[in-house]
Amino acid sequence: MKRALQPGRRIAEPPSVVKRLAAYSMTSVVTGIFAASMPAFSQVERPHTTNPVELTIHMHFRDKYVWNEDWPVAKELTRLTNIKLIGTASKVATKSQEQFNLMVASGKLPDIVAGDNLKDDFIRLGMEGGLQPLNKLIDDHAPHIKAYFQSNPQIEQAIKAPDGNIYYIPYIPDGTVSRGWWIRQDWLDKLNLKQPQNVDELYIVLKAFRDRDPNGNGKKDEIPYFNAQPSEVYRLVLLWGARSSGSNAAMDFMIEDGKVVHPFAQERFKTGIKNVAKWYAEGLIDKEIFTRKARAREQLFSANRGGMTHDWFGSTSTYNQPNAIPAKVKGFNLVPIAPPADINGNRYEEDSRRLVMPDGWAMTIRNKRPVDTIKLFDFYFSPAGRRLSNFGVEGQQYIMKDGRPTFTEKFLSSPIPANSKLWDIGAQITIGFVQDYEYERQVTFPEGKAGRDLYMKEKYLISQFPGVNMTIAERTIYDKYWPDLVVYLDEMAQNWVLGTKDVDKTWDAYQAQLKRNGLHKVLAVMQKAYDRQYGK
Ligand code: CA
Repeated sequence: MKRALQPGRRIAEPPSVVKRLAAYSMTSVVTGIFAASMPAFSQVERPHTTNPVELTIHMHFRDKYVWNEDWPVAKELTRLTNIKLIGTASKVATKSQEQFNLMVASGKLPDIVAGDNLKDDFIRLGMEGGLQPLNKLIDDHAPHIKAYFQSNPQIEQAIKAPDGNIYYIPYIPDGTVSRGWWIRQDWLDKLNLKQPQNVDELYIVLKAFRDRDPNGNGKKDEIPYFNAQPSEVYRLVLLWGARSSGSNAAMDFMIEDGKVVHPFAQERFKTGIKNVAKWYAEGLIDKEIFTRKARAREQLFSANRGGMTHDWFGSTSTYNQPNAIPAKVKGFNLVPIAPPADINGNRYEEDSRRLVMPDGWAMTIRNKRPVDTIKLFDFYFSPAGRRLSNFGVEGQQYIMKDGRPTFTEKFLSSPIPANSKLWDIGAQITIGFVQDYEYERQVTFPEGKAGRDLYMKEKYLISQFPGVNMTIAERTIYDKYWPDLVVYLDEMAQNWVLGTKDVDKTWDAYQAQLKRNGLHKVLAVMQKAYDRQYGK
């Protein structure tokens, strides 16, 4: 796409707009003609530039979204800061990572680059000279970011490049608990069963869901366990004492006794995946678990066919609301339960929110307005910016109530999961911002809150792999081997679950292949990076 403007070029504004913006910048308390249409002004910061500024941004994220100037949040951002971001990413492309790589390869860097899963690219591009180091800019012009790093040094540690520079401002999640186990209490009641407390009881319950017609239609059409995320099927290995990922990202590395390891390469994964394959063969796990994907919950709950899943507390609680599934399926009652204990008697939840996401934004070497840009980044760490990025636009998605942003009834009453609604208006997107769990608390229904509270109280969460930042040399090794390795790990695990390959017969060859494909080399560079970043 052709860029409309040179980086950072000022745009000419009609006099009326300039006048309005000038009025804006003069004082934090606005009175007169603008006040009537404006939200709580005492809380809005002084705009960051006196004159309007346009900056270009390549932002393609979650394989679906691009920066959109028509988002209500984007318009509000311009109103509050005088900065307008112009998206340059392709609206029709579907692969975010590919779009980022193409943009970098083209050499046509915009002022700002943003998106998800870009941490490693940001660090590499930064160390290669394509991004501006932000350390000094933060010190001089970003008081909110500076204060945040001072009180959260572990975040700064996690994003620093091996050369000591900060090249991007990350998306920082809030709230700790993410996914948990959910079960159809109405099905349990109907079959006179108790909530499963361990792997053996879970097996009995899932078989009962399969065999005893809990939906009462006389057909054996129930799907005992299903999931909207294919990789979640691997997580069932936890029931046999194995692990599926070290972090909130599927198939991530993990730390064991100070060593970087991959859960899929461990001996105990063999036992776990063998048992998952057995459950799959017995029809306890959705036959379409690898293909059903995003709409699985809506499909299988609406059809009264799904019995159990493991998913986010917030979004899953939506389905239980009176105007959602219970309006179609009489007696529908989906409740969160504690993780069933594994074969060793341990209850734990592998998934939780990351300390910091591999998402965020950065400014390129072409950016001619670094001070305005860092002020924009800093705005999102200010109270006004945090509200905008978390809740959307005041008067549209939320109102201020007792000094706190509160979603409107209209926003809450729609049966679409709140995160989708927020992404569609440009909130909760993958820029550098600090998530506020309060947004999610307000859109989480009582069942979800109960689940979250239970997992917090019982401390089911296990510690997360914080990720490492590699030098160019380390990165070269990692990039040489890892992309093929991860495809192979996924492919083999999928074959085992589907039963197209036998675990016992192929395990030794699998280990040999991992070695040939350089897994030990990848682990060695990650170990080096880990020791450097977090200390031995
Ligand atoms: Ca049935």
